[in-house]
Amino acid sequence: MEPVDVADLFLGPKSENRRYFKETLEFLMDEHIHWRRDFHPEDPRIVRQYDERNAVRRETLDRTTEVLLDLSSRLKASSMPWFSPRYLGHMNADTLMAANLAYMATILYNPNNVAYESAPATTELELEVGEQFAGLFGYDPERAWGHITADGTVANYEGLWIARNLASVPLAVREVEPDLLDTDEEWELLNLPTDRILDLLSAARDAGVLDAVRRHSARGTGTEPGSLGKVLVPMSRHYSLAKAVDLLGIGQDHLIPVEVDEEYRMDVDRLAETIDGLVAEETPVLAVIPSAGSTEEGAVDPIHEIADLRADYEDRGVSFSLHVDAAYGGYARASFVEDREFAEIDRVREVLDELDVVDRETDWPPEHVYEAYRAFSRADSITVDPHKMGFVPYAAGGFVVRDERALDTISYSAPYILEESAEMPDRLGSYILEGSKPGATAAAVWAANRVVPLSLEGYGQLVGRGVEGAHRFFHSLESTDEIAVGDRRVAVQPVTRPDLNIVDFAFNEVGNERLDAMNDLNEGLYERCSYRNGPVYTKDFVTSKTTLDAEAYGDVPGAFAAELGIPEDAWNEVGSVTVLRSCVLTPYLAYDTTYGEYWETFMGAMREHLADILGAE
Ligand SMILES: *Cc1c(COP(=O)(O)O)cnc(C)c1O
Repeated sequence: MEPVDVADLFLGPKSENRRYFKETLEFLMDEHIHWRRDFHPEDPRIVRQYDERNAVRRETLDRTTEVLLDLSSRLKASSMPWFSPRYLGHMNADTLMAANLAYMATILYNPNNVAYESAPATTELELEVGEQFAGLFGYDPERAWGHITADGTVANYEGLWIARNLASVPLAVREVEPDLLDTDEEWELLNLPTDRILDLLSAARDAGVLDAVRRHSARGTGTEPGSLGKVLVPMSRHYSLAKAVDLLGIGQDHLIPVEVDEEYRMDVDRLAETIDGLVAEETPVLAVIPSAGSTEEGAVDPIHEIADLRADYEDRGVSFSLHVDAAYGGYARASFVEDREFAEIDRVREVLDELDVVDRETDWPPEHVYEAYRAFSRADSITVDPHKMGFVPYAAGGFVVRDERALDTISYSAPYILEESAEMPDRLGSYILEGSKPGATAAAVWAANRVVPLSLEGYGQLVGRGVEGAHRFFHSLESTDEIAVGDRRVAVQPVTRPDLNIVDFAFNEVGNERLDAMNDLNEGLYERCSYRNGPVYTKDFVTSKTTLDAEAYGDVPGAFAAELGIPEDAWNEVGSVTVLRSCVLTPYLAYDTTYGEYWETFMGAMREHLADILGAE
């Protein structure tokens, strides 16, 4: 397939593709208008023609216009200019024209994917997207199952919901049909590998006791908090996981954050120590949930090492579910896929170089990122957000399980496998967490994944351009000597070399050893580069910020502050570092022609704000 032309994927920072966009939108609207008109043309017209309308009706239309104008001016006054490379803040960039147009076209048909009967077209699209995601993640398409969720939060709930219910299945089988088991030891039953539990579930179905097992599993009986084990997450985890253990009755006390290393990746040695400690006191591990792209740093946890660790523990009779939270970074796996295969690392680098996406000097992907992404296929389930690196409008998350039999632990209908012979589930809503849900989202994600394939020539290069832009930005920050601000001097440092495309960075006045003063400086910059003071539309540069504190990260941020001249005792006293955070999703900073000028503009804005904050002449 020909690589996509990135410049033609978006409306564009100056609405460059406006003509195409408007013509296509009008065409799609006409299609819909005809669709209505042609439905039983013999039916009489109920609403009178525009030119026959009476005064009351004109008033209604006028009021509608007035309200929409009000809406439009509110939107223009304070919305975030995500289309522009001047916006380097949260996980946002321009959204794909294909996705926007598909969404707008579909919304007029108002399909509800909760049930096939209210959304025949878009239910099929949603399940096709599930298959696309299964392919993206290297799952066996015959066994895997995926669908669209409202967001990454809901997808994480589903991952942990399935993990919880699965973990409770062996104990339920012990009550209902113990003959299906080789053991009645509680410890062994709480440590069966996922595949063994799925086989057990199949056996229960074959024995006609599936419903009884489900009633005796966690979904029926509830659980004592912690009784099924601990949930181990990196310190950098997203807070949706805290909500999930709360809602699922696991309890936040049983969510254990594991230390991260200096690159903010889950530390596998600490993970193993934690598991050893739990095993020693006979506390099971329910699930381990690494991230591929942590929300604050874009750090990619060593999923391959975690999968290896699980295999080692299984040899010793200890197992747990492995769910990957790739809400942020899931789409980046496209950068490693060619012809549906996970490509060799040299081939990945070669193609990204040939397509002029990632510069050779950028040297991406590093081995550990590549291996972590390869290991996605070893996880039991994965969360992915099309509304982040998929460049699709909100609200679009996604969830995929490696083995569809797991759905029987959460479904509220006949076993999935049985109903599947009918091709489509009658009621998607009975296999998932949500109820009514927009078919328009399914259309948008499906259109995006069709126009921009989930492989190197599609999303691979689109995401790759963000990665390249982020690395350029990182190198510029790293190689910036002191910045002269009047008679003062200021230093700037990136926190880590990005695994993907997030750059965290902070400024400090040269010679300042007070961490609170350094934090104030960066807070001040954030205020001037956000919605905080004055309309965002007039800002030269817009960013986001985050706080790296001792409670969440141990002493890791202290080492970063030290690079900016903050002594250890200042770190111990304050215990938190405010950093600016730039998610570089925009593909435009990968171009030589734009980057140089961009960096000048960025530094100009920073100098001005620094002078303002420091009161320098
Ligand atoms: C964004 C994010 C989530 C939550 O996704 P939403 O779509 O915002 O609900 C979960 N995990 C990670 C790592 C994320 O970056």
